[in-house]
Amino acid sequence: MLVDVAREQQNRHAAKSQAARKVNKMKSITAILCAVAMLVSAGAAFAQDKSCCEKAKDAGKDCAHACCVKAKKDGKTCEKCNPPKAPEKK
Ligand SMILES: [Zn+2]
Ligand SMILES: [Zn+2]
Repeated sequence: MLVDVAREQQNRHAAKSQAARKVNKMKSITAILCAVAMLVSAGAAFAQDKSCCEKAKDAGKDCAHACCVKAKKDGKTCEKCNPPKAPEKK
């Protein structure tokens, strides 16, 4: 009987330290989420650069622009709306 009580106390202790570990994990997850949120907000500024075709693709659709539809038929992407990325802006 006494052994049972001791074991239960041990179990309780283990659960407690497990909870503490969980908190530590949560803290590191929060740190990661913060880093991700920063990356996402940086990406949001970048997203404004997206072409009509990329936006349509993100929405799971094809771009409705006549020029883009025509280019797609030819198996290309419309260069008018998707200009080749400039190496660097000066
Ligand atoms: Zn387009
Ligand atoms: Zn186009």
